[in-house]
Amino acid sequence: MQQSSELSYVHPSSTSPWGTYLSQVDRVVPYLGHLGRWAETLKRPKRALIVDVPIEMDDGTIAHFEGFRVQHNLSRGPGKGGVRFHPDVTLEEVMALSAWMTVKCAAVNLPYGGAKGGIRVDPKKLSQNELEKMTRRYTSEIGLIIGPHSDIPAPDVNTNGQIMAWMMDTYSMNTGATATGVVTGKPIHLGGSLGRVKATGRGVFVTGREAARRLGLPLQGARVAVQGFGNVGSVAAELFAEAGARVVAVQDHTGTLVNEGGFDMPALMAHSRRTGGILGFGSGETVDNEAFWDVPTDILIPAALEGQINAERARRITARLVLEGANGPTVPQADDILAERGVLVVPDVICNAGGVTVSYFEWVQDFSSFFWTEDEINQRLDRIMVGALEHIWNKADEHHISLRTATFAVACERILAARQERGLYP
Ligand code: GLU
Repeated sequence: MQQSSELSYVHPSSTSPWGTYLSQVDRVVPYLGHLGRWAETLKRPKRALIVDVPIEMDDGTIAHFEGFRVQHNLSRGPGKGGVRFHPDVTLEEVMALSAWMTVKCAAVNLPYGGAKGGIRVDPKKLSQNELEKMTRRYTSEIGLIIGPHSDIPAPDVNTNGQIMAWMMDTYSMNTGATATGVVTGKPIHLGGSLGRVKATGRGVFVTGREAARRLGLPLQGARVAVQGFGNVGSVAAELFAEAGARVVAVQDHTGTLVNEGGFDMPALMAHSRRTGGILGFGSGETVDNEAFWDVPTDILIPAALEGQINAERARRITARLVLEGANGPTVPQADDILAERGVLVVPDVICNAGGVTVSYFEWVQDFSSFFWTEDEINQRLDRIMVGALEHIWNKADEHHISLRTATFAVACERILAARQERGLYP
């Protein structure tokens, strides 16, 4: 029977996150062989929970926020994926982010499915007290479906170790026992893992270094531009600078700075931590945000939100290598334009998988109550990232396909093989 993957509850476009994801799945189906029979599974989330999050604000009024937790696929293990606090969060976005987690976890062979959560809120407008209340109420509401063996949240855009600590505490109080394994990205003394904070940026650097080597692009003196200066972009840029590259352009929510000589990364990171953004940093020229895409670079790291590389920007990008620190930064049409122009894209689902890989290490350490050194963690992380990229690179060479389609091929084979072996029940 012919099936339609149109779901009645979302209306994706060709450039929206779920629309982008669906077109990425369509591109991999021809490479799935007999497993293609199960491909429709990938186009529907297993489960999506929408919750109302009411809290009493500091001024005595009652505010309501929309909260979501989507479990896209649980074939290979419990759901895994971050929680995002952002004013643009929608069910459709969380669905796409959860699906990318399914693909990402399988691409690096972690024993997880994919999930994601979010609250539609601008957390910068909340006091610390309101932020805590909102986080705790949200955690209680999604407590129906999360747990150390069912679905394990983690940080994402605008969430951090403190928020994970409140989530862990709320879940533990509700269930009557301290459950450190219910979230990852926790503070170190609450069962967090060394190396977790820097893991995503480190993974972007390691996959980028490997891809650059294969392209014959030396890191020494390479010009790097980074969009997004949070946990992912700043750490990746810092590691490239340490490897001899020049970080020549940086953009965050406060503005865009360009410095042909290369930024002093430790100083820029300290300024951003202190003031909440890069604007007002002593060196470099402030330029219009759109001019960011025209800065001559060798390596471009989109590490902010989805849909940033559209068709028009894809025609202007000068970089040879694009490293997707963000989830879903490139729309499908832009992917094609970059490929035609010979720009190599290391896709999100492998490039930024370092974060969830160390989340997995954290979860394993919590269960065994035995903690590893930072060196052990970094070595294991690097080994997994290098091995996964090599496997994907070979797949791309074998079928003459993009790294994105190759990553989807490797991952979707694993997901759908598990799906088939488990069978349908009841
Ligand atoms: N939010 C991160 C991501 O998009 C990490 C998820 C996790 O550690 O579970 O990959």
